[in-house]
Amino acid sequence: MFSILPRISRQSAAFRYHERCISSVVPLANLPDTGIVNEPILTYSKDSPERNALKAALKSTAAKCEEIPIIIGGKEIKTKDVRYQVMPHNHSHKIAKFYWADQKIIENAIEVACDAQTKWDRTPLSERVKIWNRAADLMATKYRQELNAATMLGQAKTVIQAEIDSAAELVDFIRMNAYFLKECTKYQPISENVKVTRNSMRYRGIDGFVAAVSPFNFSAIGGNLAYTPALMGCAVLWKPSDTAVLSNWRIFNAMREAGVPDGVVNFVPADGPVFGDTITKSPHLAGINFTGSVPTFNRLWKQVGNNIDKYVNFPRLVGECGGKNFHFIHPSADLESAVASTIRSAFEFCGQKCSACSRCYVPESLWPKMKAGLVEKASKLKIGDVQDFSSFAAAVIDEKAFQRITSYIEHAKKNSNTEVLVGGTYSDEKGYFIHPTIVESKDPHDKLMTEEIFGPLLTVYVYKDSALEETMKMVTTSTPFALTGAVFATDESFLIHALDKFKMAAGNFYINDKSTGAVVGQQPFGGGRMSGTNDKAGGPHYILRWTSPQAIKETFVPQRDVEYPYMKE
Ligand code: NAD
Repeated sequence: MFSILPRISRQSAAFRYHERCISSVVPLANLPDTGIVNEPILTYSKDSPERNALKAALKSTAAKCEEIPIIIGGKEIKTKDVRYQVMPHNHSHKIAKFYWADQKIIENAIEVACDAQTKWDRTPLSERVKIWNRAADLMATKYRQELNAATMLGQAKTVIQAEIDSAAELVDFIRMNAYFLKECTKYQPISENVKVTRNSMRYRGIDGFVAAVSPFNFSAIGGNLAYTPALMGCAVLWKPSDTAVLSNWRIFNAMREAGVPDGVVNFVPADGPVFGDTITKSPHLAGINFTGSVPTFNRLWKQVGNNIDKYVNFPRLVGECGGKNFHFIHPSADLESAVASTIRSAFEFCGQKCSACSRCYVPESLWPKMKAGLVEKASKLKIGDVQDFSSFAAAVIDEKAFQRITSYIEHAKKNSNTEVLVGGTYSDEKGYFIHPTIVESKDPHDKLMTEEIFGPLLTVYVYKDSALEETMKMVTTSTPFALTGAVFATDESFLIHALDKFKMAAGNFYINDKSTGAVVGQQPFGGGRMSGTNDKAGGPHYILRWTSPQAIKETFVPQRDVEYPYMKE
């Protein structure tokens, strides 16, 4: 590969410099280019090997309360601040015992991470890619069912919801980000004449530490938030959500087994505000990789702003936040598909996907049939324990979510503009169960139509067919969010019009498909406006947020003149 540098002898200092510094860019080209495909989603049909393996993993996971220490630089720490993760669908059943780190421990984790970063950043990219591929293989095979069982029992996901999250999406994030890294190193700056100068770029980590703050609702998101900055040479403090600690812990262990060195990612469960306050005070904060609600991200952003004079780097702030996602039904829509897609989008995983449909706009001409379809389908959904494989959905995540969602249901019952069409019942006796609820609202600006509820509650607004344009405008302006949206129509000219009118209404837009279910590599994910910084997790450019590239110009023809030729008479 050095044949293009004829002026450099292999023994020279310049050659050694190449070996040491540029090698982190170049060797990737030597890895075989195998292309990339998504991890297959297994069926778990009766008597399949994966079904049997999952049942065994569920049994062993449910049988114990797993102890999870804080891990900093590979060392286990336990504090007096003991916490438990329970099963949301059976909240007296504890499945994990963990510990909250206090301010001192978090500060220590920052020191350890900063030290580890310098060494880790010198690990060749090709080596890191190998570790990530090894980890993806472990997650797809040896640990697949352990990850699924932890996600099912700890976060109340059904088989399919766990499989698309903690198996397929997680494996895809790990494998594809490594692939995207390999791909992006193929692009090098222009060198007009390599006999005179050579230009290159190397992808460095960001010095300091990155705080990865993850939500409860996707195990895969935790893996992505912590391990994409790590892949790029950053060191990380990973604060998992209290209600997803077990699945996140299993991800952490699989990555360790694959070869991620101690200190590169530190596992630091903690009280949210204590963690946020501590990391934003550190001068070494290199970035925050956050997914969660708008108020939490706003708070972190403000804290960074208040501390801006303290930092070594401008911290990168990446936040994927909430949504108020819409399905817009056109009079030409295929009704059956609009009904089925809306039910799945609104009620799978109890509507606790950031992309879940939460407001639906239906033309008056289609409403009688659409209403009958929605009510019939929603009333038949089986809600129960995730270990009963016939359940469509289970419980909402915790007591706080239960209170929040049911307060919206009570609002729907009391308000004269709103009518509960189906559902509206709930009980937190054994688990946090809320029946899928559909409300019709006569007011398109009611809080049910504008606020993120994050639960199994869908609100429908019926518009006059003649008011199509005003309604479309209202869809794009009545909420601060712009995460996902879907339009259902068979009229092609309307679809072209909708693409224009809804351009800024959603970061992920669907035509005749539900608003949920983005696949890594296929629909890179993220929203605009208050839905986040839209860095498109799962896409080829996301990794670039976590590198501080260095451009290098090497000159092989020594410049010995001071004066320019034109200066000579
Ligand atoms: P959350 O904001 O309550 O918590 C997210 C994380 O932030 C948790 O780990 C929590 O402990 C931590 N946290 C809380 N206060 C903090 C503070 N002051 N400083 C630092 N960390 C703090 O969100 P959640 O309930 O876990 O997740 C649901 C939210 O996430 C919804 O709003 C949903 O739309 C959003 N979400 C968005 C996406 C996306 O890609 N846009 C994906 C998943 C979830």
